[in-house]
Parts: sequence; C-alpha cells; structure tokens
Amino acid sequence: MSESIGSTGPGMKLHTKILLGLTIGALAGVATNLTIGASHPLIVFVNDYIAYPVGQVFLRMLFMVVMPLVFASIALGVAGLGDIRKVGRVGSKAVGYFLVTTVLAATLGLIVVNIIRPWERVTPETREALMERFAGDASGRVEASQRSTFGIQTFVDIVPRNPIQAAANTDMLGVIFFGLMFGAALTLIRADRAKAMTDVLEALNDIVVQIIHFAMRIAPYGVAALIFGVASRFGFDLLVAIAAFVVTVLLALLLHATLTLSAIVRFLIGLSPLVFVSRVRAALITAFSTSSSSATLPTALDVVETRLGVPRLIAGFVLPIGSTMCMNGTAIFEGITVIFVAEIFNVDLSLPQMAAVMVMSVITAVGAAGVPGGSIPLLVGVMTMFGVPGEGIAIVLGVDRILDMSRTTVNVFGDLTAATWVARSEGAWSPADVPEK
Ligand code: ASP
Repeated sequence: MSESIGSTGPGMKLHTKILLGLTIGALAGVATNLTIGASHPLIVFVNDYIAYPVGQVFLRMLFMVVMPLVFASIALGVAGLGDIRKVGRVGSKAVGYFLVTTVLAATLGLIVVNIIRPWERVTPETREALMERFAGDASGRVEASQRSTFGIQTFVDIVPRNPIQAAANTDMLGVIFFGLMFGAALTLIRADRAKAMTDVLEALNDIVVQIIHFAMRIAPYGVAALIFGVASRFGFDLLVAIAAFVVTVLLALLLHATLTLSAIVRFLIGLSPLVFVSRVRAALITAFSTSSSSATLPTALDVVETRLGVPRLIAGFVLPIGSTMCMNGTAIFEGITVIFVAEIFNVDLSLPQMAAVMVMSVITAVGAAGVPGGSIPLLVGVMTMFGVPGEGIAIVLGVDRILDMSRTTVNVFGDLTAATWVARSEGAWSPADVPEK
C-alpha cells in the first residue's frame, strides 16, 4: 500500500511534512531575497538547477493525472448516481452552491475595498513607475483578453469537437462534458457491457489515485521548491508600493474564509472549521504553492475522501466541476482590482455600476481557468467594459503571484466545502463519517 496523505508513515505525518516544506521554502526564499538577492550566482544556480526542476516535477506529476482523473471521476459519478434526475439534483446543488458563495465573496470584496479605499495611498509617481515597468507584460494580457471574449461561443465551446484534443489542450469543461455524456450513456447500455466499462473506469480511477500518492510523497520538496522560487525572486519593493491594495485583497480573502466559509462549515456541514481546515490542509498548501485549482484537484480529491470520509462518488463529481467553476477567491480579487484600478484612473463607478462589477466578477470567476493567472485576461476584459484602460493591469501585475497563491487557496477551500456540503445534503455523508485520524 502506498502512503496516503492522511496516513502515518514511519516518521512524521505526510501533511505535517508538507507544511514544513512550505515554511522552510518560504523562510529561505524571503531571507535570500532580502539579503543576497535572487541575482546572486549561487541563488541563480539553486533556482535553476534545484528549485525549478523539483517544483516542476511535482507540478507535472499532478497535472499529468488531472485529465484522466476528471474523465474517470465524472463518468463514474454520473453512472454511479444512476438515474439522471439524481445527477441533475446533485449537479444543480453544486452549481447553486458555487454561485451563491461566489456572489457572497464578490460582494464582500466590494464592501472591503470601498471601506479601505486603497487607491488613496497610491501616489501618481508609483502609478507611472508601475505602468512603465510592467507595460510589456500588460500588453500581452490585453491581447489575451481580446482573444477570450465572453459570449454565446463560450457556451458552444463547452461541447468539445474532439475529447482527446480537449484533454490535450487542458480544456477542463470539454473533458467534463464528455465525461458527463459518457457516464450518462453508460447507464443506458446493456448491463453486462456497462459492467465491463465500469470496471475499466474504476481501475483507471484507482491507478490515478496511486499516482497521486506518488506525487504527494514528493510534495514536501515540491512545495518547498515552488515557494522558494517565488519568494526568492519576488519584488518586495512592489509589495510596499501598493501595500494598501495587497492588504485589501488579503483581508477580504481572509474574511471570506473565516466568516462566510467557516460559517458554512460549522452550520451547514456540522464540523468545527479548525478540524475541517486541519483535515484538508494538504490541499490548501498545494493550492497556495501551485496557484492552480486544476493542479490541486488530485490532492483535493484525496483529502476529502481519506481525511473527511466524503464518498468518492459525490466528491469525484463535485470537485472537478468546482475546480473550474467555483472560484470565490478569484471573484473577490477581480471585484477589488476593477474598482482599485478604476479609481486610480479617475473612473468613478456609480452604485449600479458597482453591482454590475460584482455580477461580472462572478461570471468571469466561473469562466476562469484554474491555472496560475487564469483570471487575468478575463479581468482585463471586465476593466475595459467599465471604461478602465486594460493596460492599467500593469499596476497590479507585479504583486499578482502572491495574490494568486492566496486566492487559489480560497478557491480550493470553497471547492472542498462544496463537495462536503453536497454530500451532507444528499444524506451520503455526516460529520460522524470523518475518520478518527
Ligand atoms: N489561479 C487561480 C486558480 O487556479 C485562478 C485565478 O484567479 O487566476 O484557482
């Protein structure tokens, strides 16, 4: 048996090791950054030949299983739920949960930004300096935003022309759609043939789970390497320049996690938020260090199943959809950023316009890909919609990585609560099902 995230190995527990990796990587990275600097030859060597390869191998081990995992989980989930009405009910509950929590998140973000008013602390010089420094990067994002317009085609694109191509392009929604069709069809064919296919899918699922366990064995090192790479190269001067903005986003994320999501965990799920977080922390740390909901999906599935006892059938159905649709943290970030950049460019938004920003933040958060910076092109689109120059994104790009890490953690926290709540409301799980250790 390979070591699962929750199991106790001969020494320290794996999830404790992952937390240690995060701490060591972060401390070493920040210390390096503030003392000898990332351009020192030794640090360049460490980054290029140790941190980068170790971090990438870990990331790729996770990404490698995402597509087979999504396909097998969704197809088995639909087939296992059996009747199509049940699939519809579980699906609608999940999507309803995603939408309600994302609306709450975006609203909270707008309230916080209007109270703190971080734009008042950005001098025109800082604005100019940032615009100049990130102009090149910003124009790339503006171009990307022009390619990713939101419209009727967005819905047509959910249905892939070719499922293999969808998987190769990491088109998550396309693979989810194919999995849904595959699972639904599986329930309608001759029982003996369906059984053969279900056995294959279950074996595929089990194999993927084993690969995830291999990946998690290197997680402590992968997490340390990823965090070291970011922290050692991070522009802390930028953090200071727009500290008020960074604090606003982080505060809103924290409030959403500790008030809204924690209230859901306590009152709707029936667990202490501290217990919940400590059970799922390997997934939260993976989200923080990878900045990707998709890359975190394998770990998220593992922790809800092994550490919370949520049935695979429900978790395997809700989490893949959540990892691309449920982005509470991203909605908070988008709402705050639109208002912040608008104010810096003296575009004053009225209350109805703010409400429209909220709605657009929710829609684009749902549409954003669960990859690092996945929301930026959509965010630029929202900015231009309200008369804010897209190039203004330059002001926040320098600090985006740290915000991305933080919002992805909240996104994944939302996904995990969604899966657990849906399982509870379906009567498939109760707090008593949480394993002892
Ligand atoms: N990185 C985020 C995620 O994967 C998406 C984003 O906000 O850019 O959840």
